[in-house]
Amino acid sequence: MYTPTETIEYEVDHLVIGAGVVGLAIAERLSARGSGSTLLIDKNPVAGQETSSRNSEVIHAGLYYPVDSLKTKLCIRGNELMYDFCEKYNVEHRRTTKWVVGQNDADLEYLEALSKKAHSLLYPTKRMPGPPAFMLTEDQMLAQEPHVKGKAALVSPRTGIVDTYGLMHMLEARIQDHGGDIVFQCEVVDMERLYPIVEREAEEQEEQAHGELLAIGLQSGKGGFKVEMTSPAGRVTVKAATVINSAGLHADKVYNLLRSQPLSSRSPASEAQVEFGRSSKNSATPLAPLKLRYCKGHYYGYSGPALASRLIYPNLASLGTHLTLDLAGRMRFGPDVLYIDRLDDYAIDPSTVGSPASLELVAQVVGSYLRSVNPSLLYADYAGIRPKLAGPGEPFRDFIIHHHNGFVNLVGIESPGLTSSLAIAEYVETMLY
Ligand SMILES: Cc1cc2nc3c(=O)[nH]c(=O)nc-3n(C[C@H](O)[C@H](O)[C@H](O)COP(=O)(O)OP(=O)(O)OC[C@H]3O[C@@H](n4cnc5c(N)ncnc54)[C@H](O)[C@@H]3O)c2cc1C
Repeated sequence: MYTPTETIEYEVDHLVIGAGVVGLAIAERLSARGSGSTLLIDKNPVAGQETSSRNSEVIHAGLYYPVDSLKTKLCIRGNELMYDFCEKYNVEHRRTTKWVVGQNDADLEYLEALSKKAHSLLYPTKRMPGPPAFMLTEDQMLAQEPHVKGKAALVSPRTGIVDTYGLMHMLEARIQDHGGDIVFQCEVVDMERLYPIVEREAEEQEEQAHGELLAIGLQSGKGGFKVEMTSPAGRVTVKAATVINSAGLHADKVYNLLRSQPLSSRSPASEAQVEFGRSSKNSATPLAPLKLRYCKGHYYGYSGPALASRLIYPNLASLGTHLTLDLAGRMRFGPDVLYIDRLDDYAIDPSTVGSPASLELVAQVVGSYLRSVNPSLLYADYAGIRPKLAGPGEPFRDFIIHHHNGFVNLVGIESPGLTSSLAIAEYVETMLY
């Protein structure tokens, strides 16, 4: 319990934990409001050293997830916001487009279904007035991409790639321009509500009864959180009116740090989703304690010239070996899927994934949709780790973006988290204000 005699070294309205692309986008959005102070902290010495710098850099169109999920809705909105942001602030990006290629009748059925889904989900916009997806025949494919094999391809014209470092640097600069603060090498190690939750809930009910906005924390002079951090200068205490936990692979641990949450009122994570666009901004109950799973994805580089000029996604059986490009036009394959126990295991094991046998296998699978791949030019490159709510073989889990009394938690922000980042920030802002 907080006692007024303790020294509080820093007071803020918005404390954002985690300077990955999602935390940066949220801090940028909140600092741009012009009212209320924003502090973004990260345990690492610079921004975006974890999942945000170990991904495919793809601006997805949002076709792969259940229609009503946050993943779909935030990805579609995020896609639009991302192109706008990149154009406005000169962040390097390219609308490469993507082909999903089919090799047999089952694949073609899948592509038809995906095309129907695209047409029902994606409306024409000023930027993208054309169809959201269309099919190519084998001849049309060969004319444009002579190395790509397939009976047909579904084209996703809204898919592209972005320079994630450029994006993160721009967000960082804009936070500072708006007067927000960013502090690195600061790790959150403990968190506590400043007064009992029961008292706070009674007050909120009263506020809502009077038709007032849910004004949280310092603006009303009450409530908030005491957050303990370690830093090279020693222990730091921050009093924050609102806390946004955007700690990526560590988001479950950060959430579970919060003391004085009445366990009896915690809702299971699956029921805790606040519906997209719904007016209720504050969930009645906290989340149940959370546990993330870590799912590693390896990438394979190719030291020869690229064999395609757009992103090529093979059929479902070959998933994990899709072809993406970086902004320099280099081709890479992956990421594959491997559940692991440690959240910092980025190593490429030369005896397994990096072995000649494994590279030969990758060449074989890639060869099912791409001609002229030279296995000796493939190499195991880097790996990223997905913060997953679902374990191996478990059903789909959506992003958790949950607000309870000034504490916003973002958990399981795996792909399409990069694409969705600016939309997630917009969504979090509407939850708080
Ligand atoms: C292999 C792979 C491929 C992907 N490809 C794509 C793609 O092509 N397109 C797409 O849209 N998405 C993609 N994603 C998903 C995307 O990369 C993530 O959703 C996004 O980067 C998540 O950003 P974040 O800010 O939530 O997390 P992170 O980037 O992990 O940032 C979290 C930050 O929190 C900090 N932190 C953690 N704990 C603490 C603490 N206690 N105190 C202080 N700081 C703390 C960490 O240091 C870290 O910097 C991919 C992900 C993976 C793994």
